[in-house]
Amino acid sequence: PVEDRIAKVIARAGVASRRDAEAMIAEGRVTLNGKVLESPAVNVTADDTITVDGEPLPTKERTRLWLFHKPRGLVTTARDPEGRPTVFESLPEELPRVVAVGRLDINTEGLLLLTNDGGLARVIAHPDTGWLRRYKVRAHGEVTQADLDKLRNGVTVDEMDYGPIEARLDRVQGDNAWITLGLREGKNREVKRILEHLGLQVNRLIRLSFGPFQLGDIEPGMVEEVRTKVLRDQL
Ligand code: URA
Repeated sequence: PVEDRIAKVIARAGVASRRDAEAMIAEGRVTLNGKVLESPAVNVTADDTITVDGEPLPTKERTRLWLFHKPRGLVTTARDPEGRPTVFESLPEELPRVVAVGRLDINTEGLLLLTNDGGLARVIAHPDTGWLRRYKVRAHGEVTQADLDKLRNGVTVDEMDYGPIEARLDRVQGDNAWITLGLREGKNREVKRILEHLGLQVNRLIRLSFGPFQLGDIEPGMVEEVRTKVLRDQL
């Protein structure tokens, strides 16, 4: 059977962070197979019985959600046939098994939601949920007022209809334009396809927000857990 450090197992069950679990052990609040533990330096398996403050570890994990700042160069699939690095390999080892809510392309950066609840991931990603996804985009080409109007009125690209898109030209930098876009559907490669349709070549794409969740100042490669209370209020 697989062995893991006891603090890691407690953290995975969602009871406390790994560090807090170690502190709880030091405080004598954790038992292993009926005996109070004195040191966190012990490995356990699924056959062991652990309690924290007299309560057994929850078997069904509570739903948890993390905000991940995806850097460029990672694929959002669990395993890549071409062997490219994946989001999941890059996550801190304290995280339990998670799935991504939708996908970001390999070169897209910014906010990717991760959750241990596959059902929740499907609900959030479903087009009917209609959460706004806001992107900052750098595109090669000239953005005209007519382009912005087209986006705001909704466009059809490759026989796919996109509803009204929030669009704002932020600034022009040499041959590139920085634009902020807001879309509610989450179709595959939608930003690139839509801008390509207008003759614009996307060369940087950063997701700033997804529904009520913001990228904020999370550093690239870092995760931040959404607090349970916030999660309950938003879902
Ligand atoms: N639109 C794209 O083109 N790519 C993404 O990764 C997300 C939205």
